[in-house]
Order: sequence, then C-alpha cells, then structure tokens
Amino acid sequence: MSKAFAPLSLDLDNKWSYLKTHGDDAWRSFPTYLETIVPRALSVLAERDLSITWFIVGKDAEMAGHHDLLASIPAAGHEIGNHSFLHEPWLHQYTPADLKDELSRAHHAIGEATGETAVGFRGPGFSLSEETLDVLASLDYRYDATTFPNALNPVGRFYYLRTSNLSDEEKEKRKALFGTMKDAFRSNRPYRWMLSSGASLVEVPVTTMPLFRVPIHFSYLLYLGGKSPALARLYWRMALTMCKVAGTTPSLLLHPLDFLGSDDEPDLAFFPGMNIESKRKLDLMAEFLGMWQERYTTTSLGSYVESLHALKEKSPADLMKRPD
Ligand SMILES: [Zn+2]
Repeated sequence: MSKAFAPLSLDLDNKWSYLKTHGDDAWRSFPTYLETIVPRALSVLAERDLSITWFIVGKDAEMAGHHDLLASIPAAGHEIGNHSFLHEPWLHQYTPADLKDELSRAHHAIGEATGETAVGFRGPGFSLSEETLDVLASLDYRYDATTFPNALNPVGRFYYLRTSNLSDEEKEKRKALFGTMKDAFRSNRPYRWMLSSGASLVEVPVTTMPLFRVPIHFSYLLYLGGKSPALARLYWRMALTMCKVAGTTPSLLLHPLDFLGSDDEPDLAFFPGMNIESKRKLDLMAEFLGMWQERYTTTSLGSYVESLHALKEKSPADLMKRPD
C-alpha cells in the first residue's frame, strides 16, 4: 500500500525572539543561532530525503549576515513561508495599517534573502485575525497554517507567564498568548477561508491529537522524551494511530530547538526540553522522524495545499475573537 502524503514545516524562530517573548532584554541586540541550526536541520532533512516548508522571520531575512544561510534553504529543495517580521505573538492586536506593514515588510525581506516568493504564512505564537487573512490575500498568499486546535493552550500560557521576567504591563499584552480554550474546538483538518473581499485562502491547522486535542508536534515529543523516551514513543505511536483512525492527515511542525541542545544554547535553559544535550535530542528526533516516515510520505505545505480539493468553506467570522 502506498503511503499518504502529509506536510511538515519548520518555524525558524531565532534566539532573539525566544528571549523577547521571555522578557529578557538581551534580545535587543538580536542574538542569532541560525548559523548552527540552519545547516544542522538541512543535513537531518537531507539524510532522510525530506522536503518541507520553512517559515522565516522577516527581521532575520533583513540581516545581511543571514542571506547566504537563508538562500541555502530553497537551494536544498525546501519551500519558503512567511513567519511575520518581528515575531510578536500579539500580532492580532496590531492596527490594520501596522499589520499590513509588518506582513508585507516580512514578505519582501524574505523574497530578497531567499530569491523565493512566499505563498504561505504562519503567525507567531499561533496568532491570527480576520485582518491578517485579508492582508495575506492582498499579497496573493494561497494558504495560512496558523491555527492550532490545542486544549492545552491555557496551560501553556500559565506556564509561560509564570516563568517569564515580564512586567505587569507586558503580561497584559501577552494575555491572549497561545489562544484560548475556544481554539481547541477549531477544525483539525484543512478548510477554505472565504473572505469578504471575495478572495479565499486555504487554512491548514497544526494537527493536534484527534479527540483529545493535545499537542503532538516534535517539541512536545522531545519534552516527553527528556523525561521518558519510552513514554514519548508510546505517545507518538498513539498519536499516529489516532490520526489514522480519525482519517486526519497530520500537518506537523518543527522548531529550531528540536535540533539544539543544552550544549548549544545554555541561555535558553528556561525553555521546555532545553535541558537535553544535542546528541541525545538528535537521536530522539531520528527515531520520531523514522516512525513518521514509516507511515507518511512527507511533502511541503505548498504542495499539500495544491493537492487538496472540495474543501469545506468557512467565513472568518468563525474565527472566534480572542480577548483584547
Ligand atoms: Zn514562531
């Protein structure tokens, strides 16, 4: 039996964006680890013959020192997507004018650095609004891959706010981070946004475990794997089986920290799963990716979206507003 096609993507969050979200002032000098993570992830993917989608942050694309690194990604056969300019997870609180500026600035910077035109977007921290979809359509984007129907969102927010160094004002701004319980009940399968302008955009949610709606992407598996590899294996096997039984094609994401260990980035020790050494992490990743490849033929999000037909149509009014 031939394997089904399923998309993988990597959100190329840089070190500065994690420090910024955590409330650490060191972010202001834009510290970067792209020179470590980009070649390392490219080599893991090449060894397994995987072509995926990389969502790039505009600010990183604008830095001249990153141009060759970022151009090496499409040169290796991967798709390029837009992950906003400043990676602010409160993007849905921007004014329409600021939002347009933010997304088109990222679009152009990414195009210039990579030589590729992005047609897909993922919002930072799963942040999405109707205005975002309108701006994406005006830039001729074909899909958005931001929504994350995850029942553990409020847990993530609690953990994040509790462990951060943010002032009360900054915490207020981040109140809607990682979504609300409502997000858990969004669709776990692709559909089409029908926008008031008449344009449309395909939505590919980041898949969570069918029925239970808990995260199944690699960072979460590694977090479990740091505690017990046997538990992580069992959980991953269950997630893949649940997707099969539910008839849900998983669209899963990777993060730079899935390829970096405590020996690479001791400053990021506050991050879940960053207490694991890189060698051990890469061994776990090899195992999890192997289990994925036993079941699926990997594709980029762009190719996956092109293969979808007869999608359910939704209005952005269904995109339930988050608290301001
Ligand atoms: Zn991100």
